[in-house]
Amino acid sequence: MDLRWTVDDLKTWTSALLRERRIVAPVVTPAGPVWAPVRDAGEVAWDYGRTAVSPREWLLPRHETLFAYDLAANPPQLVEAPLDAPPTVLLLVHPCDVAGVRALDAVMRWDYVDEPFEARRAGTLLVALGCATAPSPESCFCAAAGVDPAWAPKADVMISPVEGGYTVCALTAAGEASLEGAPKPLTAAPADAGRPAPGKAGTLALDVAAAAAALRGRFDDPVWESLSDACVGCGTCAYVCPSCHCFDVVDEGDWRRGERVRNWDACAFDHFTAHASGHNPRPRQSLRYRQRIYHKFVYYPEKFGHLLCTGCGRCVDACPAGMDLVEVLQVFEAAPAGQGGAR
Ligand code: SF4
Ligand code: SF4
Repeated sequence: MDLRWTVDDLKTWTSALLRERRIVAPVVTPAGPVWAPVRDAGEVAWDYGRTAVSPREWLLPRHETLFAYDLAANPPQLVEAPLDAPPTVLLLVHPCDVAGVRALDAVMRWDYVDEPFEARRAGTLLVALGCATAPSPESCFCAAAGVDPAWAPKADVMISPVEGGYTVCALTAAGEASLEGAPKPLTAAPADAGRPAPGKAGTLALDVAAAAAALRGRFDDPVWESLSDACVGCGTCAYVCPSCHCFDVVDEGDWRRGERVRNWDACAFDHFTAHASGHNPRPRQSLRYRQRIYHKFVYYPEKFGHLLCTGCGRCVDACPAGMDLVEVLQVFEAAPAGQGGAR
């Protein structure tokens, strides 16, 4: 029996899903593919390469109102914002971006379960699309970061490109339920799935583990000044990233009435750690850039057991100043000896 699905089979399945759920998928725009809700399976960019911005905002929006307040009212009023969390399918998420969701899960479900995130996450079916080749061979380094470009173990459904079509595999009960009445048979998960090798599918081969280990001895190294020299603190690297998750909570309005909102934030911003007193413990860009690298490759892995970088390569391609994370990691991979310690 031929287990291969065609794009028409995928469209048939997607059309069935659309009757019950919102589907967010890559769609083609003049500026390249972006993640957006689709009304018809024909709008999906089935062979989209890579989006410039990750799908993270569909689980953790860039801007979100938490509640409105009116302290001038008698009695004072607090009105919770309606939660925008319809049942959703994130369709055709590459393994690097599924790994980004895993990173969000670890933080947002950690010591405190973030309710708006949890509502969206629990109602989201993750449908992954494996990469047969690296969408951006100059910057993709997922395999070196421990992510198999062909496999996404945290997804609900895995779509794998094969010669002449796709195979489809359910990885969770929710994924299996979504495939009831599917137009073609499903396949079983291969026994060796999820074991990446550097350079797989044309991704860049570098020793991220060695670089991460070397970072521990390089905290006070003057090299950070030259490595971060070009960084202008724009925050683009954080905004395109599937695993970054920092946000700021502020009141928009005045003391009488307004809204409490949370907005994405970025450690590259000069006011990210600014205190109300005016003191800033990270007054230079080199200290802010170093924090980004240490958070991703030292602090977060110590706490959660995996990197806070999925090797998607977006920050490499998007940085307006030409800062290249791969080159930075190569500096430490090549010359691990240093001074000082991780903090
Ligand atoms: S995108 Fe580049 S210039 Fe902007 S904050 Fe990140 S590293 Fe710095
Ligand atoms: S740090 Fe860069 S390469 Fe790593 S996951 Fe974020 S955007 Fe992708």
